[in-house]
Amino acid sequence: MTGSICVFAEQWRGSISEATYEALALGREVADALGVQLTAILTGSNARELAQTLGAADLVVYVDHPLLAETLPQPTAEALAQVLQDRRPRAFIVPLTNVSLGVGTLLALRLGTAGINFCKDVRIAGGRLQAVCVMYGGKIEATVEAAGEPVVLGLWPGARPAEKGRSSRSPVVEEATVSLRDSPVLLRRYVEAEAGDVDLTKQDVLVAVGRGIQSKDNLGLAEDLAKSLGGAVAGSRPVIDQGWLPLSRQVGKSGLSVKPKLYVALGISGAPEHVEGMKDSALIVAVNSDPRAPIFNVAHYGIVADVLETIPVLTAAIEAKRAVARHA
Ligand SMILES: Cc1cc2nc3c(=O)[nH]c(=O)nc-3n(C[C@H](O)[C@H](O)[C@H](O)COP(=O)(O)OP(=O)(O)OC[C@H]3O[C@@H](n4cnc5c(N)ncnc54)[C@H](O)[C@@H]3O)c2cc1C
Repeated sequence: MTGSICVFAEQWRGSISEATYEALALGREVADALGVQLTAILTGSNARELAQTLGAADLVVYVDHPLLAETLPQPTAEALAQVLQDRRPRAFIVPLTNVSLGVGTLLALRLGTAGINFCKDVRIAGGRLQAVCVMYGGKIEATVEAAGEPVVLGLWPGARPAEKGRSSRSPVVEEATVSLRDSPVLLRRYVEAEAGDVDLTKQDVLVAVGRGIQSKDNLGLAEDLAKSLGGAVAGSRPVIDQGWLPLSRQVGKSGLSVKPKLYVALGISGAPEHVEGMKDSALIVAVNSDPRAPIFNVAHYGIVADVLETIPVLTAAIEAKRAVARHA
């Protein structure tokens, strides 16, 4: 494993997360470019069989301990540090999700090595690793090089398609033992969110509004458009935080992940936390008055315009088409 590219295989309630496969896809590319091994480290309790789903890696190191049944930051980072102590990889990639958010930072601290978060890509320049990071809600990109290795890289979801990190190969699996004391944090139970009035994950069409909609009074415009399209209204976090829509309508990192056939983003900037929840939509149409808004990086079609002027025009155009179809 020394000199390899290493990925933390994040498990959540007994399954490997999508973000892990995205990290494996990127890790595979970097390892191949450097001509080194790709290793995955999986932590858990009686979860060895999950290693079989990590065939994109050449080697899976499985660490079993009762305190690792859930991915809690402190015991997980301590276990990883013990495994990596004698087998120093060049880079250790940790998916930056709600589950593993603290793992990479704690691990870098524990190893006394560099940690770089919010990476969306890793490049190689003159044999050295460079992380491309997003800052200020995706408005700025920074290319960062660590002074030394190993470097712990917190990888933003969406860096690569998850499918590229899946493989039907059976990886070589090794077991490693760790010594862990009690965790300062214990998971008592999972609490399921209350079901909302509309299940956004089952909608074919979502009309999502962001802060650019400006006030709750303007939500009616989005509702009319959603009705014309046969869909539902969703929102970015500021819209939910202000109480304009219920929490069950929030799309993004701390909301829902959706994959509708059509996602219309109205006055949404396209911060990574929002994009994480809607990037896999089949068709994304964005309306934003700022031509440099990051939402246009993921949109298939973009309209640079004022949403308050554009929404009624879109609704009227769709209604006109529907009227023609009805009378045909
Ligand atoms: C841990 C964490 C979790 C988070 N989870 C989520 C999450 O689940 N979901 C989420 O959405 N965010 C989440 N966020 C917040 C996220 O970082 C952004 O702040 C948020 O997505 C921004 O929402 P917005 O695009 O509506 O607002 P803004 O970033 O303020 O963007 C408003 C956009 O509207 C445009 N605009 C303004 N007026 C008009 C107009 N008249 N016509 C057209 N366009 C106009 C502007 O150009 C701008 O691009 C999270 C943040 C953190 C730190």
